[in-house]
Amino acid sequence: ASGSDDNDVVVIGGGPGGYVAAIKAAQLGLKTTCIEKRGTLGGTCLNVGCIPSKALLHSSHMYHEAKHSFPHHGIKLASVEVDLPAMMGQKDKAVGNLTKGIEGLFKKNKVNYVKGYGKFLSPSEVSVDTLEGGSTIVKGKNIIIATGSDVKSLPGITIDEERIVSSTGALALKEVPKRLVVIGAGYIGLEMGSVWGRLGSEVTVVEFGPDIVPTMDGEVRKQFQRSLEKQKMKFILKTKVVSVDTTGNGVKLTLEPAAGGDQTSLEADVVLVSAGRVPFTAGLELDKIGVETDKAGRILVNERFATNVPGVYAIGDVIPGPMLAHKAEEDGVACVEYIAGKEGHVDYDLVPGVVYTHPEVASVGKTEEQVKTLGVDYRVGKFPFLANSRAKAIDDAEGVVKILAEKETDKILGVHIMAPNAGELIHEAALALQYGASSEDIARTCHAHPTMSEAVKEAAMATYDKPIHI
Ligand code: FAD
Repeated sequence: ASGSDDNDVVVIGGGPGGYVAAIKAAQLGLKTTCIEKRGTLGGTCLNVGCIPSKALLHSSHMYHEAKHSFPHHGIKLASVEVDLPAMMGQKDKAVGNLTKGIEGLFKKNKVNYVKGYGKFLSPSEVSVDTLEGGSTIVKGKNIIIATGSDVKSLPGITIDEERIVSSTGALALKEVPKRLVVIGAGYIGLEMGSVWGRLGSEVTVVEFGPDIVPTMDGEVRKQFQRSLEKQKMKFILKTKVVSVDTTGNGVKLTLEPAAGGDQTSLEADVVLVSAGRVPFTAGLELDKIGVETDKAGRILVNERFATNVPGVYAIGDVIPGPMLAHKAEEDGVACVEYIAGKEGHVDYDLVPGVVYTHPEVASVGKTEEQVKTLGVDYRVGKFPFLANSRAKAIDDAEGVVKILAEKETDKILGVHIMAPNAGELIHEAALALQYGASSEDIARTCHAHPTMSEAVKEAAMATYDKPIHI
């Protein structure tokens, strides 16, 4: 179906921002077309991001458990081996099912789907070079740019997706590298480093800054780094990679202290470049219609996701804010609600962040460092999983819950959790922050026993009063 009829909403990009915006728009009764160049829906997240990485994190964790934890639980196996093609196959199957599922949702909600590369002709017309060949023009009263982001490249390092890989190549390696060097200690580097470390690689992470995951609460970060080091991940901080040499058998990296100084070298079989992501607007021809971007190339929008060009909106990774799938989805819903004449809302201060290593680290709201700079008096309540009965029962008790609350009002300002399932536990805190709850509100909420969630309750008790179990 060509999109030549007038649409109420045209969405360029079918990632978590774009496909959610398209479905929501259709649900609100707006005639909607979504343009996607990849051939499959779901964007970075479903195809080469969140979903395949979580599939491999889970598979590699199971292998690691079978090898190292099963004996403690009285389960004996004669041998445990990795069948990498089968592991990749399960990941690909999960991705395939989910991306096709979104196509099904488009049909169900009557979203018109055009496969091809979109570029602006005018603020209400997009020309699409279709994947099947030829081009078509899609018109719309409102156009939402949801073109997402791409891997940030580093000067002097060419990604070949075999020996020098981006996260995309790291999700599809054909064998387990003996030595993996990860450039950049953000969550993507640590997650992919964990996958390959569990499968047998020696993993070294080189980071320019002084800290891993710089957005994390400092105290929790220290514990987290120690945990990763126990898992044999090595860290070289405050160091930059000046060059990589692939002329020999392996890869030779030349390193230099961030502050300058003597160079050293490091050998690897595979190098993962995970030094961040940049907004993707190539080929959109934004200049033609005069859409404003900032120095980093992000599209500038107001609080209603409107760009400076009337009728043109932008959401997700291509605008400022946390580059996360759930944030892109929230943007998409709110943007479409505004277009439909309703109210929308996204609070960027309450977007949870999760690192899906083992243990996971999840947070919502402010870190202790941020609370300090705000200058408010605050209390801290902590509870270690070592004192949580469920964590002890399953012998997976590494981690802590940390709650920060305003001293005067007890209003919760931030919650940080390191635990095997922190990414699930964090949502009680997200809801609490959304409703402006106090730590006493959480502490006085009955939590089922024995659960990991009780550690959140005990940390809340520790914030305004005293915990019971430590
Ligand atoms: P994208 O998902 O990037 O989608 C944009 C889409 O637009 C793409 O499919 C692209 O092909 C299409 N497009 C671009 N230009 C055009 C054009 N001109 N015409 C037509 N189509 C176009 N986030 C999380 O929240 N949790 C995680 O666990 C997580 N893990 C990640 C792991 C990895 C390895 C990576 C790389 C990312 C991860 N992310 C995660 C981040 C997440 O993937 C992004 O925040 C999210 O995908 C952003 O959604 P988006 O819709 O803005 O853009």
